[in-house]
Amino acid sequence: MLLGCSRTVAGFSRKGYMEQLKQIVLERELKERLRWLVRLRWYAAGCVFGVITFTHFVFGLPIPLLPLYIGNLVLFGYNGLVHWFGGRVEAPENSGVWFPKARRLANFQITFDLLLLTFFLHYSGGVENPFVFYFVFHMVIASILLSRKAAYFQFSVAVVCLGAMIFGEYYGILPHTHLRGFIPASSCFLEMPYLPGMFFVFISTLLLTVYMTTSIVDRLREGESELAVANRKLQEQDRIKSQYVLTVSHDLQVSLSAIQSCLKVVLSNFTGTLSDKAREMVCRAEERSQYLLLFVKDLLDLSKIRAAKEFQKQEVRLSETVSRVLQQLKRPAGEKDIRLDVLKCNGVSVSGNPQLLEHVLLNLIQNAIRYTPQKGRVSVECRCSNGNGTVEVVVTDTGIGIPLEDIPRIFDDFYRAGNAQILEKKGSGLGLSIVRQIVAAHRGEVWVESDIGKGSRFHFTLPGYTE
Ligand code: ADP
Repeated sequence: MLLGCSRTVAGFSRKGYMEQLKQIVLERELKERLRWLVRLRWYAAGCVFGVITFTHFVFGLPIPLLPLYIGNLVLFGYNGLVHWFGGRVEAPENSGVWFPKARRLANFQITFDLLLLTFFLHYSGGVENPFVFYFVFHMVIASILLSRKAAYFQFSVAVVCLGAMIFGEYYGILPHTHLRGFIPASSCFLEMPYLPGMFFVFISTLLLTVYMTTSIVDRLREGESELAVANRKLQEQDRIKSQYVLTVSHDLQVSLSAIQSCLKVVLSNFTGTLSDKAREMVCRAEERSQYLLLFVKDLLDLSKIRAAKEFQKQEVRLSETVSRVLQQLKRPAGEKDIRLDVLKCNGVSVSGNPQLLEHVLLNLIQNAIRYTPQKGRVSVECRCSNGNGTVEVVVTDTGIGIPLEDIPRIFDDFYRAGNAQILEKKGSGLGLSIVRQIVAAHRGEVWVESDIGKGSRFHFTLPGYTE
């Protein structure tokens, strides 16, 4: 079964499945990065405004303000448009055609960014402006955002833009703005053979940047797709395992119940009087079957909770749930002379599934009674947090406590601390695991504080009920 699973998952061939996941990874990545690019451009537009203003008014460099501010306005306006258009492309009705549209939008943005960068550079010194290195950033962004082919296309756009600016200014086709005061008057970057040399070095830098970044990004994407496949496989195997445990524990429960009924009939002398020895043996068998039945019940509960995706939620009045649970536990608490207290639970309601929340409280209070010696005290307290509308429930006992090294593991399946095993031989080690699953399904948290020999305090949070 598992072998079949590793070759074919949900009816796809492994190759086709890999391709599908790769596509999912690419789409998710593109969506996130397009939003990131828009955010980055807002910052860039703000910085461009600051740099222009600062350079002119503070440094006093002779740069033409009007075209630069117009370029800056275009940058702001165009980013606003891209933001709006990006939102439209993401609309649900475009889900089928989203990816090609988003890719075209990403390509358009990088090309337009390169054109704008060239525009800003041209009006602020051309090759004399150190911001010319920002072409490298654009190549990195293109390589991260786009396919390898598209990244090389953007590299060509950058080469054309930069070449047109440099040689246009050199041959006098475009006016050159000399950064007087920033570059010494005697030096001019628009000289031969510096210009072609610098152009060559720059092109090779951009090319290497694209080559290296696309190689790294491709490898990362490959790794991410493989992780996604492994994750799906694990989920599938987990589902199969839960289903298997569910079926087995259900069958075990039915058979164990039948065995127990038969043993009870035998013990009641219905089938004839038992000798003392036979009675003792049957009693032990009945006790064991009772323990096994409880164990299987826990296993079944856990599998059911894991298999369920959604729970029906409604208002749950904590005072009522707590008193129902205490009613069930009155006898075991009475046998050990343990005092049970309820504090501040009146009028507190949470949003959740009543049966499951009763299960949580039953597990925690039952544990508190089991792991508390004679004449101890167990209390349940409800605390409403004012800020975020959550309710915290605290179950406190004066019992044996939990050793510090066991605390991180007690919510794991089948885990029992050493001191608990000495006090109580029987126990499945599944109760707290069930508690954690239920609380997590209600978007809450559960944790414990404990002092060995003094007692434990289990806390869990739940969303408060709002009408
Ligand atoms: P079980 O009680 O069947 O062993 P649980 O999952 O309910 O299983 O609890 C796991 C372990 O956590 C227990 O075996 C015990 O070591 C520890 N534990 C839980 N509640 C308490 C408590 N109130 N006081 C001390 N130890 C506790």
